[in-house]
Amino acid sequence: MELTNTLTMKREQVIPHEPGVIRMYTCGPTVYHYAHIGNLRSYIMEDVLEKFLRYEGFRVDRVMNITDVGHLSSDADTGEDKMLAGAKREHKSVMEIARFYTDAFFADCEKLNIRRPDTVVPATSRIADFIQMVQTLLEKGYAYQAGGNVYFDTAKLNNYYVFGNQNREDLAVGVRDTVDADANKRSKTDFVLWFTKSKFEDQELKWESPWGLGYPGWHIECSAISVKELGEYLDIHCGGIDNAFPHHTNEIAQSEAYLGHPWCKYWFHVLHLNDARGKMSKSKGGILTVSTLEEKGYDPLAYRMFCLQSHYRKPLTFSYESLDNAANAYKRLIERVAALSEEGEPDLAAAQPFKEKFLAALGADLNTSLGLTVLYDLLKSDLTDATKRYLVGDFDQVLSLSLLEKAKAAAKPAGAEVPAELAAQIETLLAQRAEARKNRDWPAADAIRDQLAALHVVVKDTPQGVEWHLER
Ligand SMILES: [Zn+2]
Repeated sequence: MELTNTLTMKREQVIPHEPGVIRMYTCGPTVYHYAHIGNLRSYIMEDVLEKFLRYEGFRVDRVMNITDVGHLSSDADTGEDKMLAGAKREHKSVMEIARFYTDAFFADCEKLNIRRPDTVVPATSRIADFIQMVQTLLEKGYAYQAGGNVYFDTAKLNNYYVFGNQNREDLAVGVRDTVDADANKRSKTDFVLWFTKSKFEDQELKWESPWGLGYPGWHIECSAISVKELGEYLDIHCGGIDNAFPHHTNEIAQSEAYLGHPWCKYWFHVLHLNDARGKMSKSKGGILTVSTLEEKGYDPLAYRMFCLQSHYRKPLTFSYESLDNAANAYKRLIERVAALSEEGEPDLAAAQPFKEKFLAALGADLNTSLGLTVLYDLLKSDLTDATKRYLVGDFDQVLSLSLLEKAKAAAKPAGAEVPAELAAQIETLLAQRAEARKNRDWPAADAIRDQLAALHVVVKDTPQGVEWHLER
């Protein structure tokens, strides 16, 4: 497939380092609050990318970090410590906050049909690796100590990489915002690898290191976790475009200095979700979450549909009006699938041209809206219902809109009372699911979710507990 590589600002054919295997890294959430739907846009599009690569036949090894430390709003020790602010706001410890919002993040992902990456690594579980990487950077002369902290020396690089021209301006802003903040830096673009001196003296989480009691800088976790889990050559690094500078720039600097050779080949960045006020961000307050959408009566998958309707390289503007349009389109799509007869066998030869169109659409820089068009085209075509159903299921491996499941539920007549025996069975499963989630036994929780889905149970997690009803 071809992707727009932010490293070169060109559309390029994806050719992995090892044939047949894609090693993919994703910057995970900073777990101090619920994810807003703007963040989740990135995770939805990354999920489509992963699933499409699998659909094309690649093995995809995907790793995501969880930022539960190294969480400053900027690496210059300015701004607020987000984790600590979250802990203070909710009168909890930093680790309690991290665990709660990590679970909340994956619960949102589940509702949006975002597959959990194979490997999920909380930053706090890898402090020894970060220390080792910083140590090596010091030994190689790419880092220096000043005022108690360890800094990366960007002047030692032949090229301090900044993505595309668009980020020159961000660089200027970043430098301007941080220039007075830290007199220890030799160059304005230098960044902290390890803190022992910080304005956050009440930091809850600190670790022993060769440079004193402290904690890692913002960027080191992604480099260290990626190199350890995915090796020295990374194929695709994903993230929201706001991570491109300084976070990804600094990841490249320290990873390549550490490894001594180029590191990641393709950078996949998803553009912002805007609202009427501009870019959606947690700091503006009043954030939109998956729960907000559910409370307003939207199926979270209608939001996934909304995201799939536009291209990931374009900023997307959110309004309830446009979400309504997506929700209606989603509902009509399910109705069309529900109207297909379940009789007969698919004609695979007749399906093939549509599969090829779908591959071509998604293969052209992940053009999801064109992929949806192919889906509509096949529903309009003169293929048999069985072939149409087959293709809907086939494409939905990538789109993940639960089309066949929703259609099956929609086709059933509206149920009357739930039989007592079934209700008891559902309650038992829900109790098992709660237990599995409490024990963070995700495979078990997923298996129970599948069983509940097979029974057409719609589960909703509310502040008052779990609610459920049968799909009509
Ligand atoms: Zn990262």
